[in-house]
Amino acid sequence: MSRVYNFSAGPAVLPESVLQEAADEMLDYRGTGMSVMEMSHRSKAYQTIIDEAEADIRTLMGIPDNYKVLFMQGGASQQFAMIPMNLMKNKVADYIITGQWAKKAYQEAKMYGQANAVASSADKTFSYIPDCSDLPISENADYVYICENNTIYGTKYWQLPNTKGKDLVSDVSSCFLSEPVDVTKYGMIYGGVQKNIGPAGVVIAIIREDLITEDVLPGTPTMLRYKTHADNGSMYNTPPAYGIYICGKVFKWLLRNGGLTEMKAYNEKKAAILYDYLDSSKLFHGTVVKKDRSLMNVPFVTGDAELDAKFVKAATEAGFVNLKGHRTVGGMRASIYNAMPIEGVEKLVAFMENYEKKV
Ligand SMILES: *Cc1c(COP(=O)(O)O)cnc(C)c1O
Repeated sequence: MSRVYNFSAGPAVLPESVLQEAADEMLDYRGTGMSVMEMSHRSKAYQTIIDEAEADIRTLMGIPDNYKVLFMQGGASQQFAMIPMNLMKNKVADYIITGQWAKKAYQEAKMYGQANAVASSADKTFSYIPDCSDLPISENADYVYICENNTIYGTKYWQLPNTKGKDLVSDVSSCFLSEPVDVTKYGMIYGGVQKNIGPAGVVIAIIREDLITEDVLPGTPTMLRYKTHADNGSMYNTPPAYGIYICGKVFKWLLRNGGLTEMKAYNEKKAAILYDYLDSSKLFHGTVVKKDRSLMNVPFVTGDAELDAKFVKAATEAGFVNLKGHRTVGGMRASIYNAMPIEGVEKLVAFMENYEKKV
């Protein structure tokens, strides 16, 4: 067996110990004689799995009792519609556009009501986070929407926007569980899990209870109502059972490793190794305004597309895979999520230093 250093933006690297545990339990989950994939979601064994998963994410994030934790399907993209369908009571919402995912959410919301783009960083290829201290927030906005960590462009909000009292809805897909978070600052936090937590398809939403009501836009299907999932413990229908089981294992891995405070320190250490090198390199440079840099996604370029492609090829051959940047930014992107070991980053930087000497 040979594992590579996988810098994919998502689906992405998972902790090796989690994969090993899942492998060990594949044929016989704890004496049940079957795999979790083959198990009724109404069984006692599965109820324990989902209950523990919820309890563990509550502990990790310090989620207050007046917030629901929902495990749903459809990835983050399905939330682009579910959010307006469920939360746009006045049919008005304000969106801050800091990249493609925010833009997609905004465009989807426009199908359901008046979505306003109150700020954007499109003018500089989304390489920064706009000043959000005094935005023209709509008086009757149902919520203010952000994408907190911009997976493609490598920016992160280090300060949340001033929403002027409106509920904040945040897509945290690519920074989920990467640092401690004050849940009370949000009306809703959600993310697809395939960046930092588990297998694609599962989406986790943490929503303040008073936002989960029957007052949804007319025509909202049963499956797309938060209340349906909240009233049924995320098991109105068959949930993405195996995916939730893996998420649960990752929660336990985080708890064993000191929780989110430790994770943040580790992520800062890893990112610093890469950013320090990029800041000193004559060949490679980062593409993002320094103060807005993400700890999770690190885009960089040489400035020469041909050289970029050559580097990506050489890196792949050396076991550093999925470094090709998003097509809208070009160059390279190293995604260094929670489960990327520090050795992976150290070895990548050593490889880049060596490469720089040779060209
Ligand atoms: C990947 C990603 C999405 C889309 O996730 P899907 O599960 O594929 O729908 C949305 N938002 C952000 C920030 C992402 O990184």
